[in-house]
Amino acid sequence: MKYDVVVYPDERLKLVSSPVEKIDEELIDLINEMFRVMYESDGCGLAGVQIGVLQRLFVMEIKGKKYVMINPEILERSRDYSFQEEGCLSLPGIGAEVKRSKRVTVKYTDIDGKEKILKAAGLLAVCIQHEYDHLDGKVFIDHLPPDEKLSVLKNYRKQHNL
Ligand code: ZN
Repeated sequence: MKYDVVVYPDERLKLVSSPVEKIDEELIDLINEMFRVMYESDGCGLAGVQIGVLQRLFVMEIKGKKYVMINPEILERSRDYSFQEEGCLSLPGIGAEVKRSKRVTVKYTDIDGKEKILKAAGLLAVCIQHEYDHLDGKVFIDHLPPDEKLSVLKNYRKQHNL
């Protein structure tokens, strides 16, 4: 099956994804496909919903390291924040600085079915929060102050003739 990137304002991006029930060949194929789409689009992260698969998983490549997080759960978010420029394959052509926790602790199942706990900081922490949001039907512009969100969206609509 060939997948395309789901782009805003597609309603699917607002839906909450369901837990992955089992790690089988089909899921491995899906994960490979997610990496393929991510690399093809020059992204550093991709969640299932972004190719229309409403399952709780995402893939990332950060600083040369690949991650597959299945049924992730953010256990802790630091109360100190940073603002970093973010973009999203589902909102091509726009970017904005988003307030995120500097550090997160995430629990997830890896591709071998093992449960892992990871403490992440910096870009990795930002990426995890961004991808995790997709599983709950959120995109990065939802974190912007209302006036900024409006102006970013205006720019987006103009670019894409919406
Ligand atoms: Zn995204």
